[in-house]
Amino acid sequence: MADLFGYLIIAVFMALFGLLVATRFRKYFEWLNESGKTNKEIPSEGWGCRTCLSEYNPEVYMCPDCKTKLIDFSTMPK
Ligand SMILES: [Zn+2]
Repeated sequence: MADLFGYLIIAVFMALFGLLVATRFRKYFEWLNESGKTNKEIPSEGWGCRTCLSEYNPEVYMCPDCKTKLIDFSTMPK
């Protein structure tokens, strides 16, 4: 009888852990989807940040948000 109770506890923990992992996975894939969506909106030309895809004036050298060097979108590989 004690063994059965032990298995039950393990089963409950496994189920909870599985649920946690499943939630994490869904969040991760949702996040992947979101970043995939923004990737499709890369402007074909202009000057801006390739990380957050914000457009800036050509005088601006670095993205204030991401601290990355700005690029010409037309030279960016698709
Ligand atoms: Zn940026």
